[in-house]
Amino acid sequence: MANLRKTVCALAASALVLSACGGPAGGTDDKRPVVLTTFTVLADIASNVAGDKLRVESITKPGAEIHGYEPTPDDIKKAAKADLILDNGLNLEAWFARFVKESDAPHKVVSEGVQPIAIGEDAYQGKPNPHAWMSPKNVGIYVDNMVKAFSELSSGDAAVFKANGDAYKAKLQGVQDEMTNALSALPKNERALVTCEGAFSYLARDTGLTERYIWAVNAEQQATPQQITRAIGFVKENKVPAVFCESTVSDAPMRQVVSATGAAFGGVLFVDSLSGPEGPVPTYLDLIRHDSKTIVAALTGAKP
Ligand SMILES: [Zn+2]
Repeated sequence: MANLRKTVCALAASALVLSACGGPAGGTDDKRPVVLTTFTVLADIASNVAGDKLRVESITKPGAEIHGYEPTPDDIKKAAKADLILDNGLNLEAWFARFVKESDAPHKVVSEGVQPIAIGEDAYQGKPNPHAWMSPKNVGIYVDNMVKAFSELSSGDAAVFKANGDAYKAKLQGVQDEMTNALSALPKNERALVTCEGAFSYLARDTGLTERYIWAVNAEQQATPQQITRAIGFVKENKVPAVFCESTVSDAPMRQVVSATGAAFGGVLFVDSLSGPEGPVPTYLDLIRHDSKTIVAALTGAKP
């Protein structure tokens, strides 16, 4: 029986199906180095670079709010066992500094080298917008940083990481082109992206959209009356046909904007988390495709 399990797990590992064989649950058969990431988007990108050479996990689960996440004692234990921790940086993971203080694992900031866009409004004005991964071009830089960090962690696999990284960057270019073509084809008066969180600065820059939001960065206190009034004013003034909200926050404030303006609720966009495997965006490439399609469909009045 033990031999059978070994064989099944070896087969599963080669097919990247790890859950029953010492994957995220932490079994003893899997001796690969463990790379711990702070959220699901990074975990997916890192898995593409790591291939089957490393075990990649995410501290936060699909759907989690990641800006103000509170690490659990189990998270701290997991971090202590990790061989490398990857965080986004750019002030995304407010909880991360405290978290690494309690862990000895080395860590790498994957946004290193990205040209940040400054936040334009509210308490965070002038700080870097953390959502750099909403530009697939930037994710190419994330990939280079991962290739480097993984090659230091497991130098014998450096050529594999480089090849995986190059193959993934080709896919990033494909999805970047799809996104830019779809969104920059929108008529000029429909190129406004109004969302709950100001998470789309990089995507808006890449695609020529004007970005407006209710609040700048997810935090405990969201959507003051002034922020909602400001969004309503913009939507009315520019006759914006549809507005959006993100999967990890309540859409109640945006529903207020909808009822005050008559704009349509254009749908749920994914930024700070992937969906589960059965949901609409199990991977980062799906996330970019899903958001582009949802935005275009809502702003042009087409059915998605
Ligand atoms: Zn966010």
